[in-house]
Amino acid sequence: MNEPMIRFENVIKRYGALTVLDGLDIDIARNEKVCIIGPSGSGKTTVLRVLMTLERINGGVIRVDGEPLTHMQKHGQMVPASDRHLRRVRSKIGMVFQHFNLFPHMTALQNCMEAPVSVLGLPKKEAEARAAELLDMVGLGDKKKHFPIQLSGGQKQRVAIARALAMRPKVLLFDEVTSALDPELVGEVLNVIRKLGAEHDLTMLMVTHQMGFAKEFSDRICFFHGGKIVEQGPPEQLLGDPQNERTRQFLSAVL
Ligand code: ADP
Repeated sequence: MNEPMIRFENVIKRYGALTVLDGLDIDIARNEKVCIIGPSGSGKTTVLRVLMTLERINGGVIRVDGEPLTHMQKHGQMVPASDRHLRRVRSKIGMVFQHFNLFPHMTALQNCMEAPVSVLGLPKKEAEARAAELLDMVGLGDKKKHFPIQLSGGQKQRVAIARALAMRPKVLLFDEVTSALDPELVGEVLNVIRKLGAEHDLTMLMVTHQMGFAKEFSDRICFFHGGKIVEQGPPEQLLGDPQNERTRQFLSAVL
């Protein structure tokens, strides 16, 4: 079980002439909590999007739980993954987005039941019980029947976290999940993430601008620049004693 939960091997992602991920290598261990920081446009969100297969990669291999994500073995050869293979490997990963992406016409409870019923084929009763339990866990037990428009930003984001968890992922990705929130609502979302990290076996990969949170929460911080990891290490070291000039410049601008 020493195999990393996530492995990027020489991953390349281009948009037209623009190379966004430039031969990226990264291993993330089981249950490891990793924060990605770096300037705007450095490829941070792209790392999460290619992991969710929301974008195709142009080179290299991504492995999740030991299995290639976009390819599979067939008769001893690597061939592009079938839809079935993609769905199975991708189902190990959940993602929480900056702008919540909740279904507006569904209640909090229905938002958390939709994928378990339609994708996993869970009976409705079972999906409902699980959704209710998760909404309790994120502190929204009294908002189950509310529609997104009736919830604050922080509450919407907590529904989004519960919805991702309803698929029982092994990996949870967070893309600047507090960036769209009013400052007074940031804490309630970070508290939920903190609690999840402490109480569940979850590998977490988070793009964030919350340096204070990254420092206390993560096992490792990766600093991105130009589609590569320029420097990485335990939070105290990376934030407190950065070795690379680019890391120093970035931190002096944001801290
Ligand atoms: P970050 O999250 O670090 O701000 P992103 O991963 O979002 O960076 O984007 C990296 C680069 O890729 C940026 O220059 C961005 O403009 C570009 N990019 C992202 N998505 C697309 C897209 N769908 N089409 C073209 N360019 C894109």
